Amino acid sequence: MSATITSQPDATGHFGPYGGVFVPETLMTALEELTHAYEAARKDPEFRRELNQLLTEFVGRPTPLYLAERLTAQLGGAKIYLKREDLLHTGAHKINNAMGQILLAKRMGKKRVIAETGAGQHGVATATAAARFGMECVVYMGEVDMKRQALNVTRMKFLGAKVVPVTAGQATLKEAVNEAMRDWVTNVRSTHYILGTAYGAHPYPMMVRNFHRVIGEESRRQILEREERLPDLLVACVGGGSNAIGLFYPFLEDKNVRMVGVEAGGEGIKPGRHAARFQGGKLGVLQGCKTFLLANDDGQIELTHSVSAGLDYAAVGPEHSFLRDAGRVEYDFATDDEALEAFKTLSKVEGIIPALESAHGVAHAIKVAPKMSKDQIILVNLSGRGDKDVQQAAEFVFGGGAVKG
Ligand SMILES: *Cc1c(COP(=O)(O)O)cnc(C)c1O
Repeated sequence: MSATITSQPDATGHFGPYGGVFVPETLMTALEELTHAYEAARKDPEFRRELNQLLTEFVGRPTPLYLAERLTAQLGGAKIYLKREDLLHTGAHKINNAMGQILLAKRMGKKRVIAETGAGQHGVATATAAARFGMECVVYMGEVDMKRQALNVTRMKFLGAKVVPVTAGQATLKEAVNEAMRDWVTNVRSTHYILGTAYGAHPYPMMVRNFHRVIGEESRRQILEREERLPDLLVACVGGGSNAIGLFYPFLEDKNVRMVGVEAGGEGIKPGRHAARFQGGKLGVLQGCKTFLLANDDGQIELTHSVSAGLDYAAVGPEHSFLRDAGRVEYDFATDDEALEAFKTLSKVEGIIPALESAHGVAHAIKVAPKMSKDQIILVNLSGRGDKDVQQAAEFVFGGGAVKG
């Protein structure tokens, strides 16, 4: 691979033509302050020491790399390893980034943090980080998502966060991001916005990726210890793209490692019924950056659908658009039905109930493993656990939410 693939975004925050800073004038100062604080922090051994200690003692790193023996045997092809981010405190990879950003907020002298959340996993991670550091925390969440993810709303409340329902538009994640940005404009001096994925205006995509790189760094070390070689294929689901880029980034220069990002195919690739931005999406600007997104011919953002709230967003992180153009990462999709099937399979065959988001990655592995040889290796990032999803999955699988059979 050429060196450009792993290069940092340029001074204006662009990965090739993607990324950048598309925000109201009033936020420019805050983003510059954040960029400087982050650059100083990442070079500061004390910051790294404090973050590492938190990740080890509070968050539960390193996570295991687990050989899914029974799934591998059942599929009869490549060996399947799972990177167990589902075992982290609060149940998903999101806490890696939330802990990094809360430490930054503290360094910047902020007393209050805000966040947006879809499925509630990022809201829970942020509320947890805020509780740990005694900061005020406000989480914006679409009213529709609050109903779908009532358990996570309750968790956030116990953690001391204020959850603000957002009723505009579809009342889901996109509208919650708008409200969080509005709050930030108003309270920028006291407040840090903990954005939850590798998305938005520079420096967020780069910074969030760097807080999740630990996933790929550990995986690389663990697979080398275990197999004495690198995997043939990495697989991760892609919403905004943070768990995927966290896994992929440390492998970008390893030419022989293929990578596939799996988007939400929803009910199939028809307008409004999916969230697979690389299936018919176009270049546009949404909520801070330029990237691939789903829009109609007038440039209006299209409605999206996925069984998993965490993948249900109209745009993809700019670094993914760049890596796709470069041909370094391939992007595929799994439909709702395929993800639910994978959810059932992994639960039964391995005793691991995955998040519905992660189940999209598992679905891809199930599809391709039988076509690969037994001496090949697939490494799937299991981004989160499925406790939050069992009720919803039960409605599809058993009907009406009543768990039978
Ligand atoms: C939020 C979430 C995702 C999607 O977000 P990315 O930024 O694309 O990683 C995936 N899996 C889980 C478990 C999540 O909570």
